[in-house]
Amino acid sequence: MVAFSDVVSARDALAGRLPVTPLWTYPAVNEVADATVYVKHENVQPVGAFKVRGGFTLLAAMPESRRRGGLVTWSTGNHAQSIAYACREFDVRCTIVMPVLTSEEKMRAVRVLGATVVLDGADLGAAQARAEQIVAEGNGHLVSPGDTPELVAGVGTAYMEVFEAVSDLDAVVVPIGSGTGAAAAAIVAGVMAPGCDVIGVQSTAAPAAYESWRSGTCVRRPARTVVDGLAVGRGYELPQRLMKGALADFLLVTDDQIVTAQRLMATHAHTLAEGAGAAGLAAVLAHPDTFRGRRVAVVCTGGNASSREIAALVSA
Ligand SMILES: *Cc1c(COP(=O)(O)O)cnc(C)c1O
Repeated sequence: MVAFSDVVSARDALAGRLPVTPLWTYPAVNEVADATVYVKHENVQPVGAFKVRGGFTLLAAMPESRRRGGLVTWSTGNHAQSIAYACREFDVRCTIVMPVLTSEEKMRAVRVLGATVVLDGADLGAAQARAEQIVAEGNGHLVSPGDTPELVAGVGTAYMEVFEAVSDLDAVVVPIGSGTGAAAAAIVAGVMAPGCDVIGVQSTAAPAAYESWRSGTCVRRPARTVVDGLAVGRGYELPQRLMKGALADFLLVTDDQIVTAQRLMATHAHTLAEGAGAAGLAAVLAHPDTFRGRRVAVVCTGGNASSREIAALVSA
């Protein structure tokens, strides 16, 4: 499992390596949301997403003997960039398996960080199988994007910063893919802000984590959302165990609602969010009765909008 003390250790490991990210509130957003909304700007992390906190924490905690073997993981996006970035910082060999339909820009983002990209599989499940095969052949250590305790502890540092910056939040809304971020938020809130509701949000078009949380057992569901970061087709054991009984609620929003929130981020908060990074705000806008008049933090988890997403923002 992962405890608050692991998050505190992660923060010590990250000190001086990653910035404390800003937490801003925007009157123009508040007016639309009819709530006081604090945006946690993880989009300004070096790889443009919160996950790098986890990648760094993992590498910092890893013994040199293990680092020497190199790391292997699977991802279409920000997890790949996070592990590749941390491996580069620690001078560790990194192999990322990406599904064959991954865009050229996503592959480039990982290659420029020095990682080796292996293209294989129709989806993330198939990419995982290939990553496991590479490891079975003796070529490095496998990193699960969801079931790795160091990743959860590392991303928890973002929530320490949130609760230190604002002491009386009513809620924090966390976009969920595998659930590491929301699990970490629940651990940290439990100690630093017990009165603050931790609320997860996922796309209606990829509800595997939502259905897993509701049913109490990890299930698979089609991931048809176009929102990277939320497009995860199964529940992961570790974050699900940590989220059980610890989330106040878990909301779903449509991909269209996410685009609307992304647009509001751009026009009212001068922020380019990727879809997943706007999902928290989308939940606040889609559930006004839950959030009206409250003080709520939304985590802008990432800013890596694809060129397709950017085009969609201006074409409505
Ligand atoms: C990975 C990711 C998420 C989902 O985080 P999990 O920890 O997998 O639940 C949300 N937003 C962005 C931008 C991401 O990269």
